[in-house]
Amino acid sequence: MTGVGCINHNRERSSLSTVSNASALNSKPRSHSINYVSSDYESLDYDHYESELTVREEKLNGYKTVVASNVIRWLIYFSIAICTAVVGIFIDTVIEYFCNWKFQSIRYCIDVKYSTVECLIIWILFTVLPTTVGCCVVLFMEPSAAGSGIPFVISYLNGIRIPRMTAVRCLLVKVISVVCVCIAGLGGGKEGPLIHIGAMVGGSVVEAWWKSLRNGPGRKIIGPLQNDRERRDMMAAGAAAGLSAAFGSPVGGTLMSLEEGTSFWSSSLMWKVFFCAAIAFPTYNAGKNVLFTNNTNPSESVHSKSIYFFGKFNENTIYFSYSEFPIFIIFGIFGGLLGALFVNINYRLSIFRMKHVISNRKKLMESVFVAVFVAIINLTSMILLSNCQTKLEISSSNVVQMYCPAGSYNEISSFWLRTQEENIRSFFHYPIEAYSVVPLLVYCVIYFILTELTVGLNMSAGLFLPSLLIGAAWGRIASIVIHYYSPGTIGNDPGKYALLGAAAQLGGIVRTTISLTVVFIEATGNVQFLLPLMITLFTAKWTGDFFTDGIYEMQIKLSGVPLLVSEPPPLTSDITTEDFMSDTVCAIPHILMVGKLVDILNNTKHNGFPVVASKVCFCRTRNIEHKCYGLLKGFILRSQLNVILEHNLYLTPLHDENYCKKLELLRKSTYTCHDTQQFQRLKVDEDERSIVIDLRPYMNSAPYIVRLETSLPRTFRLFRTLGLRHIVVINNTNEVVGIITRKDLAKFRLWRKAATMGLKEVNVY
Ligand code: ATP
Repeated sequence: MTGVGCINHNRERSSLSTVSNASALNSKPRSHSINYVSSDYESLDYDHYESELTVREEKLNGYKTVVASNVIRWLIYFSIAICTAVVGIFIDTVIEYFCNWKFQSIRYCIDVKYSTVECLIIWILFTVLPTTVGCCVVLFMEPSAAGSGIPFVISYLNGIRIPRMTAVRCLLVKVISVVCVCIAGLGGGKEGPLIHIGAMVGGSVVEAWWKSLRNGPGRKIIGPLQNDRERRDMMAAGAAAGLSAAFGSPVGGTLMSLEEGTSFWSSSLMWKVFFCAAIAFPTYNAGKNVLFTNNTNPSESVHSKSIYFFGKFNENTIYFSYSEFPIFIIFGIFGGLLGALFVNINYRLSIFRMKHVISNRKKLMESVFVAVFVAIINLTSMILLSNCQTKLEISSSNVVQMYCPAGSYNEISSFWLRTQEENIRSFFHYPIEAYSVVPLLVYCVIYFILTELTVGLNMSAGLFLPSLLIGAAWGRIASIVIHYYSPGTIGNDPGKYALLGAAAQLGGIVRTTISLTVVFIEATGNVQFLLPLMITLFTAKWTGDFFTDGIYEMQIKLSGVPLLVSEPPPLTSDITTEDFMSDTVCAIPHILMVGKLVDILNNTKHNGFPVVASKVCFCRTRNIEHKCYGLLKGFILRSQLNVILEHNLYLTPLHDENYCKKLELLRKSTYTCHDTQQFQRLKVDEDERSIVIDLRPYMNSAPYIVRLETSLPRTFRLFRTLGLRHIVVINNTNEVVGIITRKDLAKFRLWRKAATMGLKEVNVY
């Protein structure tokens, strides 16, 4: 026995563990499913570090430091916005340059020079080479850069430490990989990764500020900003700036951050996030203007092109009547159904990949296979579908003639030989005769399959734009059909149904509604369409939710992240903390010998410890007898204890000339580095073991607590809204009887869900 209730290397389990097999929480998953919580993810502590030391520092620094910290804070937000926009401009420029080169070469090859087989080889090279580069950098340099990264952002904002989330190498690899995906023409876009990139820029920029100021006279100004909570807010702002730059939608970006991270939202944060998004948008826009003024078509101003990402929808030609409401609802239902189908297939594909595509060699081969498939299917569709289009004058640089007579072009070629942005704008703005049903249908089906295959590859690919393209394609098909049977309904403008199709498809897959509505409004420059968009998006969400989770929620669950969703599990008010807390608590006396403290830390792996006075006793609630571990005095993290012991802080008086340095060390231990903190064995000299240490100045003297009788929904809300890592459970006389962490709640959600589904036991690893 080393401390009050501390048992050697034993992570105490909750009483619920008998039901949920939770004792296996810390081992690796035995099978792949959404019903497990992984022990690989640790929680972040968004609670303020408040101790005797910090209170004294605050008083010493005075109000001037508060003002100076505020100024620095705004400067950090400003630099995050600028950096995100610059990264966005860089990505766009490289993609545009290489895509133009690729498309021109393929066009030249098909129409002027080589045989079909030679063209196919060239096309394959243009897809396989970037795919290989994009996949290799992820696999061999930074595996955490794979995917769109939005699930990571959501998890981080929710309070889960994602290893290497703010590492600069992850940022660089992400940028290279997303550029490669777009150049290869796979079914992935850059918009989702830009949100992750924005968040990473936020994390990296704030760390750079911390590092540059913490050793000089700026130490006392940056001190209060050095914590996970500030970093989280700045990463939320970076994510908003990423979306704002990607879609030209500052309000949409702000709302997206709000919709995905509402657990900690406040009006002052909203203002900062909006500031960041609002700076990123014009910076990105201005940068693109400067870089692309020498466009081949100077009459088409890049400014007008990029200020409305989807191109401006003219209010005089786009209109709707109330009789069209059923059509909007049908669009929403169809989008929701297709979205649910997409998520379901993606789930099965992910399980398959987790089981069978494990080694790096297989992962690379899979990506190359998809790249070859893309090239073959693109060219084959052009050969097999000989729809020749003459009706519309499209810039000849976008199309190939192939087997069509002079003066006409192969219709489906225009889909494959343009960037995703150009395609989406053409779907929204070209007149109805520009595309026929069959090429649109073929494109829609192929792109659906390509996107399914691409999302989940070991590359950085998002699904915003691919989803929009799929939806816009079927929306256009619907508009052609409607136009055929009822020509008066839509006039000659299929753009509005293409827009609604795009909204329905994206809403059906990702299930965000408020932010997407605003993104669409800002990206089209048309407020008039608010009502149809809202109806379609809400219907798509409800329909999709009826069948599956949204894609990000599914991916989060699949990776076992202990996410606390927005609402506590239903029908759980009768469950109180004593049902799921860990009741064998490792508590630390507030005054103890150094040797004893070292033993406690070396013999347990818990990350936080209640600090107690008095002795162990027993108390009784309802019919259960509980062991009490002493009067609660405060709470202290393992990382803080490590610092105290490693730097021998206990050997010198607390308030000596090294006071600031001590505080700095302690503060640094409360915010996290990129990697998961490793358990470290501590050593102290034999003669130091008997020194007495008083933990009171270092501990948080007013930690969050709940009583034994507190219900699960109440505890859940506390955790989620405050972003907590631990809560101490006390009895009527303020004695510690238990402790709860995030995973104790996250696994409970799974158990209850499974229980309502009629399962006896859920897989929790
Ligand atoms: P995180 O790694 O994010 O901090 P965790 O749940 O893995 O979360 P641990 O501190 O390793 O954190 O706790 C594992 C289990 O032990 C949890 O069920 C928790 O309730 C329990 N626990 C946490 N701290 C203590 C403690 N000081 N004494 C006894 N049990 C604890």
